[in-house]
Amino acid sequence: MAEYKSDIEIAQEAEMLPITEVAARAGLTEDMLEPYGRTKAKVDIHSLADRPSKGKLILVTAINPTPAGEGKTTTSVGLADAMNRLGHQTMLCLREPSLGPVFGVKGGAAGGGYAQVVPMEDINLHFTGDFHAIGAANNLCAAMLDNHIKQGNALGIDPRRIVWKRCVDMNDRQLRNVVDGLGGIADGMPRQDGFDITVASEVMAVFCLATDLADLKARLGRMVIAYTYDRRPVTVSDIHAEGAMTALLKDAIKPNLVQTLEGNPAFVHGGPFANIAHGCNSVEATTTALKLADYVVTEAGFGADLGAEKFLDIKCRATGLAPSAVVLVATVRALKYNGGVPKAELTTENLEALEEGLPNLLRHVSNIKDVWGLPVVVAINAFPTDTEAELALVERRCNELGVNVALSEVWAKGGEGGETLAREVVRLCDEPSHFRYAYELEGGIAEKIEAIATKVYHADGVDFTGPARRQLAQLEELGYGDLPVCMAKTQYSFTDDQTKLGAPEGFRITVRNLRVSAGAGFIVALTGDIMTMPGLPKVPAAEKIDVTPDGKIVGLF
Ligand code: ADP
Ligand code: MG
Repeated sequence: MAEYKSDIEIAQEAEMLPITEVAARAGLTEDMLEPYGRTKAKVDIHSLADRPSKGKLILVTAINPTPAGEGKTTTSVGLADAMNRLGHQTMLCLREPSLGPVFGVKGGAAGGGYAQVVPMEDINLHFTGDFHAIGAANNLCAAMLDNHIKQGNALGIDPRRIVWKRCVDMNDRQLRNVVDGLGGIADGMPRQDGFDITVASEVMAVFCLATDLADLKARLGRMVIAYTYDRRPVTVSDIHAEGAMTALLKDAIKPNLVQTLEGNPAFVHGGPFANIAHGCNSVEATTTALKLADYVVTEAGFGADLGAEKFLDIKCRATGLAPSAVVLVATVRALKYNGGVPKAELTTENLEALEEGLPNLLRHVSNIKDVWGLPVVVAINAFPTDTEAELALVERRCNELGVNVALSEVWAKGGEGGETLAREVVRLCDEPSHFRYAYELEGGIAEKIEAIATKVYHADGVDFTGPARRQLAQLEELGYGDLPVCMAKTQYSFTDDQTKLGAPEGFRITVRNLRVSAGAGFIVALTGDIMTMPGLPKVPAAEKIDVTPDGKIVGLF
């Protein structure tokens, strides 16, 4: 196999345009920009407050993720470049990477090959400091909460029922469970505590769903941080922290403008977890882009059963957004994996396994069409190891079944490699859409979870453990019954068992835990243990990351 340049090598060879020129492509003048250096800027959302929305929204999602990688971000970047090449004014909205995965296993998250956003080192590292601001807001709340208890605990907070954690944007399992407040009378109140990674904090979810500063403050104020001795919820506004927390976030909330390798404008802003939260970039970025461009391409986390479901049922519902078309990314490798091929053998041609894995793709396609009523095209993200016969087989099967399909070669060729896909997407955007949600908000929490499980996962039903039943009753009693549900389930399978690949049938989903994210505005239903503070692997990616004496970052991928 030929040698390929690494993502960072390609990114560093790019001649970046000054950010003012990129902004001009989105119709933004200099007075609307707050530059962070020469190639990054925040956009002054207040100057656009009265601008109407004009763009069509395109959602990029995927089949169930596999260790082989699907390439949603890569496809999103390449699609936006391809649409611009064809003369359609298009912006891109992506999530901002977290330092945890960058230094852990996954590496960077700014696309790949010739479909990347740059400056990729900045985007992957501190960028414009938003995540630090989110961490600071979260930790201010924690400090004020413990201080309230120390200063006499007028609210009667039960220190054993504090549900707020401190956070840091790092994979640091050492902090998962801690005892803090040690010392003496003059120090804190000792209690068992813990840290989450910043992207798993509710502040991140709230930040990404807020429509403006007033909404941000209201949402922060509603967050439940503890329960009292008589089990009443305590919110952020009970300890009067929402104003100062919003103050810490007032600049962070402005979308970050960067460019693709082809100089097209992209917002990279916000990045909540896709399991305990909804997993897509900020509403501010999406709605601002829709005011600036004719088309906006955005990505949702994980596969369509989690990422697209939450994008459509939570984010779109909360904001009135509605996509005009959906792109479902699949790779030959991931389909073979779904067909039972182990990771080490994915580079060998295997048409039988490919065929076996196709039902996973087809189920996601029919969900998008039948559950949400949206037009969809499958993008086959071509890898260098795919054979002609394999690519042809996927295209042929899709064609036979009446599924729109386009080969995407954006990783190898940039926007040029995405023109077929782009043409199909533009065509789909002009088709009538019949967008609807997978479930309505009225009705109990259990019915909503059942609707998602049966319609989207194709489960036979849902079982609730004893504790989950009690939590469900309590949350409904507290008045949270009308919120949408955010499912925290393994991303690898339609089921809650990550080993069941393909399109399984005859299974039930078990909900083990329920809690409310009242600021984000959803009930989180956990089907298993979901890690909110990851650890580092045996050999962390951080070991290879370095910086040369003249300040060039190397080893980031
Ligand atoms: P996702 O957004 O689905 O997590 P990414 O687009 O971030 O996936 O891609 C994950 C990794 O796979 C990146 O390092 C990227 O360079 C690589 N990758 C993506 N598409 C291709 C491709 N077609 N050929 C080779 N590598 C690819
Ligand atoms: Mg991605």
